[in-house]
Amino acid sequence: ASRGLGDVYKRQAHDGTGRQQNCRNLFHKLLGFIGWIIFLFQVIAMAINLFQPFLFFFDENGVYHALFGRYITLVLQIIMYTMTAIYALVVSCRSKNGKRVRHFAIGLSSIAMAFFVWLQSVYPLLPLYALGCLLAACVMHSFVLENEKEEYRDTLEQRLQDSILKGNYYDLLTGMPGMTYFFELAEKQRKEMIQSGGRPAFLFFDLSGMKFYNQKFGFAEGDRLLREFAQLLCQFFKKDHCSRFGSDHFAVFTEENRLEETLHKIFEIWDEKGDGEQPAIRAGIYLDAGKNADISTACDRAKTARDTIRKSYFSDYCYFDETMLERAEHAQYFTSHLDRAIEEGWIEVYYQPIIRAISGRVCDEEALARWNDPKRGFLPPADFIPILEEAGILYKLDLHVLDQVIEKMHKTEEKGLHVVPQSINISRSDFDACDIVQEICDRMDRAGLPHNLLSVEITESIIGTNFDFIKEQTERFRALGFPVWMDDFGSGYSSLDVLSDMNVDLIKLDMRFMQKFDNGEKSRIILTELMKMANALGIDTICEGVERKEQMEFLRDIGCAKLQGYYFTKPVPLSEIFDRYETGRQIGFENPMQTGYYDAVSRINLYDVSILTHDDANTFHRFFSTIPMGIIELRGNKVRFFRSNQAYRDFVKRTFHFEVGNRMSPFEELPELMGGIFIETLKRLEKEGGRIFFDETRPDGLTIHSFIRRIATDEVTGTTALVIAVVSVMSKDSDIPLQIVETERSS
Ligand code: C2E
Ligand code: MG
Ligand code: MG
Repeated sequence: ASRGLGDVYKRQAHDGTGRQQNCRNLFHKLLGFIGWIIFLFQVIAMAINLFQPFLFFFDENGVYHALFGRYITLVLQIIMYTMTAIYALVVSCRSKNGKRVRHFAIGLSSIAMAFFVWLQSVYPLLPLYALGCLLAACVMHSFVLENEKEEYRDTLEQRLQDSILKGNYYDLLTGMPGMTYFFELAEKQRKEMIQSGGRPAFLFFDLSGMKFYNQKFGFAEGDRLLREFAQLLCQFFKKDHCSRFGSDHFAVFTEENRLEETLHKIFEIWDEKGDGEQPAIRAGIYLDAGKNADISTACDRAKTARDTIRKSYFSDYCYFDETMLERAEHAQYFTSHLDRAIEEGWIEVYYQPIIRAISGRVCDEEALARWNDPKRGFLPPADFIPILEEAGILYKLDLHVLDQVIEKMHKTEEKGLHVVPQSINISRSDFDACDIVQEICDRMDRAGLPHNLLSVEITESIIGTNFDFIKEQTERFRALGFPVWMDDFGSGYSSLDVLSDMNVDLIKLDMRFMQKFDNGEKSRIILTELMKMANALGIDTICEGVERKEQMEFLRDIGCAKLQGYYFTKPVPLSEIFDRYETGRQIGFENPMQTGYYDAVSRINLYDVSILTHDDANTFHRFFSTIPMGIIELRGNKVRFFRSNQAYRDFVKRTFHFEVGNRMSPFEELPELMGGIFIETLKRLEKEGGRIFFDETRPDGLTIHSFIRRIATDEVTGTTALVIAVVSVMSKDSDIPLQIVETERSS
């Protein structure tokens, strides 16, 4: 009833002011009209006065004389000013504050004007009209114009304050209640819900990958998406129960009843709506269950639950449980102590050597971070890397690791040891937090180190998050001369796709290949095929997690260029590397001058595959066969079979009754049957380079067609590597080549 009365009163008040307004408008118009008439009358009268003076004239002495026309206009003006004065003074009496002052000033100026016009009519030769105008103008300026300006300023300020107040209550983008107002509303509604027997639930939503969405489509499109999401929430929950806390964070207060069903519906509609580009929804749920937690705490707990599924690429939800608080505290510790840890040297860098399979020497080292905390002890990366990554501050640690690596390279050089390339791990969040490519490049340049001394490891999993962007950054690294390694290759689902679309210098096979090594033939076949593929693509390979001799030998034989694992060494601190060196326990470093030679030799693919297909009646068989191939090293009068495939070893054993070993031995120790032409050809190529096809016929009539090419020469030792491939073998009485391929398998 009181609201009804209020409305009636407001309407009446409005009607009253409306009538006043109309009156005023009429009066304004009338005055304006009279003003125009006087003005026009003056102009016309002046024109007529030129021919027929009735306003004024000048006598022979040049003295001015007013005529009746002049008196008529003055009288008209006196009337007009008097009317204005009466009107303004009446309005002034009825108004308040500024308006009263303004109308009073107008009234006074009008009286003054009327008075001066009258004086002018009495003393036509004095400039009294002009004096009156001056005086009135001063009064109007001081009391009317300034006053109006001030009032306008006040109105603007008031409006601004109103909109700020409104902004505090409602989110301007989505129209949902803002955070503070939502807390107020939820507090009230929770009480009502509990009284009516309901169980309150707090939800915290965000959209995964909103940042990339904004980057890709722009902020306007991002805002549109947020509004769309807000509308979707409002379809399922009351608008006053939803809130946008800022960016892509939304909170909802609701009843637990059929909550999961509702969430599934929301996810379904959201996923159907977009074209697969829109970010997934993640929701954390906190059930109040009579605990009556503070509303902001309840929302915070829902957010904590959401944090546990932050990495989910699909729409998902998660309930809060108490253990999450402990984990959140743990995460909080690392994020808030990172700067201190870096400053106070709690971050230690350990180095794990990477061994060249064919030389057994350390050809690279990987830098791995450790957190040596004064309170919590010595912690592995798994404890802090994911947390720092999630918080977006891992780049600080990664750049600190790089600083340490640079320092290490300088120290190694000072000790007169070979400086082998170092690899560092970088993560997806590094690319978002800073221009990591530029940061790394600047640091290496400041240290005066060549870029090829630093390899950058990116894990295969990060590529899936935004392929084009990562590809572009990888290209930037490579263009600057930093080799890019793909870490943990084979741990994801898209490894092969990624390889075909992106250029990397090396793939690091994930540790799980070694863990499955003993599971039977299958894992070895997969490894062999992966190695063939990488070789064919011209990409180097490292296998991680090598723990046993048998694994090492297998990998070396299938052509894996580099090996890393506990079989050689665990990651160790720098002091230990130097210590091992001094006590002669360290595996020797590869001489960087030999790196080119070893790279060339390792890259030779001994598993050249020719796929033969043939129709056999109704069945379709596929065979794959390996040409016997090997790498031979020559140094002075010595020779060794450096690398070879199984087919070659079998071929040499069967044809020459000779066991291919990996030892440097004099030519004389080669079997006689291998003959002079073979040795001569090797020596010629060693000197002249190039490639040669040659046939060699044995006394028993067997002709062997081979192909030999010089690959590289090691300037340090004077060793030359040549690759040999046996193309065919013919018997004396047959034109048909004997089958040379021993390892023939049907697939
Ligand atoms: P990762 O880059 O794949 O590093 C290889 C991990 O395997 C290392 O664990 C290493 O100690 C371990 N490892 C090496 N050989 C063997 C073996 O023979 N057997 C077994 N069981 N493990 C072996 P770590 O040091 O705990 O590092 C774990 C992961 O943490 C690393 O995986 C890397 O992804 C990340 N990480 C380490 N340091 C950093 C860093 O400074 N920055 C970034 N962004 N990530 C880092
Ligand atoms: Mg790594
Ligand atoms: Mg790895």
